[in-house]
Amino acid sequence: MKLTLLSALALSLCASASAKEPVITKEVREENGQKVEYMFINGIKVHEEDPAKQPQPEIVTPKPYDAQAAKAPEGAIVLFDGTAESVEKWSAMNGEPTKWKLVDGALESVREAGYIRTKKEFGSCRLHIEFASPAKPEGSGQGRGNSGVFLMGQYEVQVLDSYENTTYPDGQCGALYGRKIPLVNASRPPGEWQTYDITFTRPIFDEAGKVTRKARFTVIHNGHVIHDDVELSGATSWAGPHSVKEYAKHADKAPISLQDHGNPVRFRNIWIQEIAD
Ligand code: MG
Repeated sequence: MKLTLLSALALSLCASASAKEPVITKEVREENGQKVEYMFINGIKVHEEDPAKQPQPEIVTPKPYDAQAAKAPEGAIVLFDGTAESVEKWSAMNGEPTKWKLVDGALESVREAGYIRTKKEFGSCRLHIEFASPAKPEGSGQGRGNSGVFLMGQYEVQVLDSYENTTYPDGQCGALYGRKIPLVNASRPPGEWQTYDITFTRPIFDEAGKVTRKARFTVIHNGHVIHDDVELSGATSWAGPHSVKEYAKHADKAPISLQDHGNPVRFRNIWIQEIAD
């Protein structure tokens, strides 16, 4: 495929002068008569699959499941505990009852049932959530065990079966989708329960809609820190095959949502603690 460079736009999207802030550049290329936006973070293309340009994170042995640490602490809001009653804390995105299934005490994504969201809304928070990709793996790459945990309904911590399943690192299990690869690959085999412990600080916007404080993530996957107080450089939603969107002003609180990506991924033991800003 011949790519014609229409414009090379070096856009510094940094709000502050922190040396650690990634440099983001964009190019618009013409492909088959269409203008396609490419985004690069520190020179690496979003969804780069070439390991010479974006190495795969090191594979580590998951830490043993810590039942005590996984228990909802006193005062936490339980969002799902395996009961039908707790399913009522979730709905389809349009507010109707979800078509996801309660299976063996787990909430299972149903193809074409759509995303689900909490009825309650949250901003900065600490979220514990457990997930299992299908025991019988099907598909490959992004097609295997794909779901996602969306803070404020939009900032995605990817859920994927990344056990002996390679994809672009910024879309593998634990990635802040399209924005940040996980420090390590701590995935368990398909069918096994995995944990995320997510500490999320919400973004803040000014009146004009400009982000004045970017979101931050610390994520622990099966006992391993995979994001250590990472500042999220922008949104994680799809803007093209190699591009994700920028921040767009939203409310101070929004539901947590979980993705239906067509794979029957299961969730259990979901609880949340609100954090003061
Ligand atoms: Mg996903």
